[in-house]
This record gives sequence, structure tokens and C-alpha cells, in this order.
Amino acid sequence: MFNSNPVLGIIGGGQLGSFLASSAKKLGIKTVILTDDPLAPAKSFCDEIIISNYSQKQKLEEFVSKVNVVTFEFENIPFEVLSFISKNKKVLPSPEINKIVQNRNEEKKFIKNLGITTTPWIYVNSKNDIEKNKDMLPGILKTCTLGYDGKGQHLINNLNEIDENWFSLNEYILEKKINLKQEISVIITRFENGDCYIYEPIENIHKEQILKKSKIPANINQDIYKQSQNVAKKIAKKLNFIGTMCVEYFIDIQNNLIVNEIAPRVHNSGHLTLNAFDISQFDNHVRAICGLKNLPNKKISNAEMINILGSDINNYKNRKYSNNEYFFDYLKKDIRDKRKMGHLTILKY
Ligand code: ADP
Ligand code: MG
Repeated sequence: MFNSNPVLGIIGGGQLGSFLASSAKKLGIKTVILTDDPLAPAKSFCDEIIISNYSQKQKLEEFVSKVNVVTFEFENIPFEVLSFISKNKKVLPSPEINKIVQNRNEEKKFIKNLGITTTPWIYVNSKNDIEKNKDMLPGILKTCTLGYDGKGQHLINNLNEIDENWFSLNEYILEKKINLKQEISVIITRFENGDCYIYEPIENIHKEQILKKSKIPANINQDIYKQSQNVAKKIAKKLNFIGTMCVEYFIDIQNNLIVNEIAPRVHNSGHLTLNAFDISQFDNHVRAICGLKNLPNKKISNAEMINILGSDINNYKNRKYSNNEYFFDYLKKDIRDKRKMGHLTILKY
């Protein structure tokens, strides 16, 4: 707990940073954003922005001097940068958590060691490693680090599809391809005193490995509902997590619940909480990392969220919306194919 309102530092200036800064503002908390993107959309929402490469020490020091607590909107920040900051200021969630979660091999070991089911996987270094484990095919080869929105992934049906050169550039895991019935996610906020607020499971539809739609309620049975929330709680507790995080799950055609991955931050599938709950995932994240307590939260209504990618944003900009529809334009200057440009949430009363 801080004696007066802390100043919140946020690393990253994309849409997640924008929503976090807006939540902080509602609470009277000032924000300073550190980003390497001169066009960062979050600059319209924060109190101050520092534009710099994350490894530039002088700028990092300036950032640290201006804030009381630091968080981040994406997990792929070098561990050295977060641990440098944490020497002077609180970083939440803690850099140690990030170290586990930003490496798919470490993340999966951590989940497995908790006795939680995750996708079968092996760490691979060469085509030969895969040849020796043909029972893992068809599988998905994923870079251990820096992957998002399906980047750095290759579907491998047979050995001919493997390019030996891939292994000189990156470390990989090979995951067995799951016969998916559904995908869901659970967003959880854990507070300083260990209290948790767990949002109801959200059902997600991906297209070309990018989230396309999310909705509540998820079309799942009571068992999976409870199990997915319990698993998220177990993971958050084990990590001693403070803030909002997301657990992504697969449900296979036999109705097994399998952890896909953990995002140690607010998550795209939780955008519908901005309108469907009194307290959104962003509000709760800011509350938790600033030492505020877990308040009773109320669901306002069922909802569906649609991600708007690339030039599709132009079709949404000048439309008229009903009062149960909430359009968010992320104010990104350059439109790129498959780039997340905005989203639309429809409340279903
Ligand atoms: P990212 O970090 O890019 O989100 P994910 O591992 O979550 O990577 O993969 C993105 C999407 O690709 C998943 O949500 C799912 O739709 C599909 N996918 C990934 N791994 C598997 C798998 N082992 N079996 C089936 N589908 C998968
Ligand atoms: Mg994912």
C-alpha cells in the first residue's frame, strides 16, 4: 500500500498500455509510459511518455526516477531490463515470473510440475530430434521465445516440411497438435493479500492463430468452468502473482481441459470485461499492483468481442453503433495486415 497515489510506470504503448493508463486515470493515478514506438497509441491516454529503446540506460533511469511502481503490457521484455528496474522500484508482476513465462519450454515445465495437464511437448534442436519423436506429429513447432499471434510457429505434418535452417536461428519446442473442440481463457486478478477475483471463463475463436472472437458465457459444462478457474488460481498462487494474468486453455474433442499458455498480463480475450463488468481486467490490474484491495465486482451482461485486424478497421470507423455496441479504435497510425487495430464489444442483454 502506498501512502499517497503512486505514479504508475507502464512498459509498452500499445492498446493494452492505453487501457491500463485509462484505468489508472479513473483512479487518480498518474502514468508514465516507456515505449520504443514513436507512434505509440498510448500517448493519448498517459500523463507522460518516454520514447526510447529499452536497453538505453539513461532513459531507463529517467523512467525509474519518475514512477513508484512499474508494470508491462507485453511479456517479451528482456529480463535484464526488468531486473535493472526492480533494483530501485517495485516491478509487478515480478521479473522472475516473466522469466518463466517468456520461455515456452520453462513455462510448460512449470505447469507440468504443478500437476496440471498441458499439451505434450518436447524441446527440439534439430530435424533429427523430431525424427526420433515421430509420435509427436502432427505437431506445432514453436519458438521458445518472442512468439505471439501465431508468429514463430510451423505446423509439421511430416518430416519433409522441416527446414533445418530454422534451428540455427531459434530454440524450439514441438507440441503435439490437439484436436480442438473449443478454446477458452480465464482472467484472474490476484491482490497483495492473496485475494483473487476470477472472471468467468471466456470462449475464444482463433483464425490463422490470431484471436478473432471472444464471448461470455462460454459454452462449457460446470465441471470445466470450475476446473479452469481452479487451475488459474493454483497457477497465480504458485507464481505469487500480483496483478491480472490470463490462462489460455484448449478443450479437446474428449472434453479434456489442457493448459495452452499463460500470459502474465492483461489479455486480448479480456477486452469484453471493459463493458461487461463493473470492474474490468485493466481496472483490477491497476488496483492490485497499486496495493488497492479486491472490491466486489458485478457482471453487467453477457457479451461478445470481435477483434478488428488490418484494413478492416476502415469498415468500422464511420459506422453507426447501437447503445449495446462499443467500438474501440486503437488509434494506430499505420495499418498493417493482421495488425490488431481495434475491437467491437456487443453486450447481449
Ligand atoms: P501465441 O503465443 O502466438 O498466442 P499459441 O500457442 O497460443 O501462441 O497459439 C495460437 C493459436 O494456435 C492457439 O490459440 C490455437 O488456436 C492454435 N494452436 C497452438 N498450439 C496448438 C496445438 N498444440 N494444437 C492445436 N492448436 C494449436
Ligand atoms: Mg496464445
